[in-house]
Amino acid sequence: RSLAAVDSSVPEPNRTQDRRQPVSDEVLVDFDNTPDTDPHLPGNRAWGKAITARVASSTLGDQLVADHTLTSVDAVESVLEGAVGAQADWASKTGAERGAVLRAAAVEVEHRRAEWLEVAASECGKTLDQGDPEVSEAIDFLNYYASLAEELDEVDGARHRPVRLTLVTPPWNFPLAIPTGGVAAGLAAGSAVVIKPAPQAQRCGSVLVETLWAAGVPKEVLRLVHVPENEVGRALIASPLVDRLVLTGAFETAELFRTFRPDVPLLAETSGKNSLIVTPDADLDLAVKDLVYSAFGHAGQKCSAASLGILVGSVANSRRFRDQLIDAVTSLQVGYPTDATVQVGPVIEPASGKLLKALTALAPGESWLVKPRQLDDTGKLWSPGVKTGVERGSEFHLTEYFGPVLGLVSADSLEEAIEIQNQVDYGLTAGIHTLDRSEISSWLSSVEAGNAYVNRGITGAIVRRQPFGGWKKSAVGAGTKAGGPNYLVGLSDWVSAPAAE
Ligand code: GLU
Repeated sequence: RSLAAVDSSVPEPNRTQDRRQPVSDEVLVDFDNTPDTDPHLPGNRAWGKAITARVASSTLGDQLVADHTLTSVDAVESVLEGAVGAQADWASKTGAERGAVLRAAAVEVEHRRAEWLEVAASECGKTLDQGDPEVSEAIDFLNYYASLAEELDEVDGARHRPVRLTLVTPPWNFPLAIPTGGVAAGLAAGSAVVIKPAPQAQRCGSVLVETLWAAGVPKEVLRLVHVPENEVGRALIASPLVDRLVLTGAFETAELFRTFRPDVPLLAETSGKNSLIVTPDADLDLAVKDLVYSAFGHAGQKCSAASLGILVGSVANSRRFRDQLIDAVTSLQVGYPTDATVQVGPVIEPASGKLLKALTALAPGESWLVKPRQLDDTGKLWSPGVKTGVERGSEFHLTEYFGPVLGLVSADSLEEAIEIQNQVDYGLTAGIHTLDRSEISSWLSSVEAGNAYVNRGITGAIVRRQPFGGWKKSAVGAGTKAGGPNYLVGLSDWVSAPAAE
């Protein structure tokens, strides 16, 4: 079954709901966020059901559609040489011309939204409620970096000079938005781009590249490679033709990249161990909703996911909070994305190692508020779990799990809660729920996280509104934020402009 053969009898969805408010501060570039599909409209419900029905009958999960797997070092080098050879032509276009191609690509992604959702569901277990905002984010990256390309000629008195080749190595957990972001940024900056999708997300990589080619991105400047993670994969990273490395993945992978290529700028967003503080001054209803979505969206498989709730003072003993949390977690629809109503899908591999331990074992002091259950014999489908009594400094406090399990920690004061939040090695996302302004400002001045959210969930950063990237062990290399105004700067070289006469 070809990826392109998507049933076009399904009507286009009606996207009337804009989840994203206009940005109130100065609008620097010509850019609007793309709305998600409103799942409440009857026509959109039918659209979603048709997609999940196709996922149910599809065999996409079993076959590799991607064009080729490179198995020799020579083959890798020849793809890179081809891309570099075509780059000068792409770079000779103005930023506005490159931007126009990327905007056309954004339109094409919108046309293929159903196909993108289907592939992400089939291949990576993305439920519709998670995949749809991810496609919106991909569209946002294309349009936003297109806008930045138009402004790129000169920054702080230095002239922009495109690099030749950017290698983008995205993860499987956002198999559409994150690679689109890296590709769009590299192309916007005038670089040729080679993308190496995660092994679990190769078809997502293929559909992305086919879509961009169809919209007019020259095939030679955007290349897709599947390489095994052996000496051929290392040759890809080690090639002297690579000028920039863009990685989203584990901290250890970023360290490996840095070891292989100390000479090449690396833009890496890495792991997280993120928490949401809830104080007695919070809107508890909202806090429950945001904590549950942040913990269990995409089955907790986000670098940004909430893995800990830090409950301050009376919240830790609040019956109302506890009962609402239990109700919210146990009423989540768990299953495969063959059903449009599913909210918590499978984990990417059968749970093992530290995740399996977190889902099945308790440390001293811990008890289950909601005990996770393994729902079938694949080892991938788990009902979400919540453990309480997690102790400060314990394994659960400090470890990233990437799965559907949330721990609750108690803190006597906001100060203690912040210490607990900052005690982890990572610093990607963090949140607080409180309606007290002084608590908000003291938290904001001390939280150690790249993305700090107030009275909101801690996942789902919106392009331009919440540029995404971390501190501490959550970022390696340039640490430039994706979806923010400086991202293309890191993917370019800069030459001092001669002083004006
Ligand atoms: N940008 C995503 C978010 O804000 C997270 C990306 C990731 O998991 O790497 O939720």
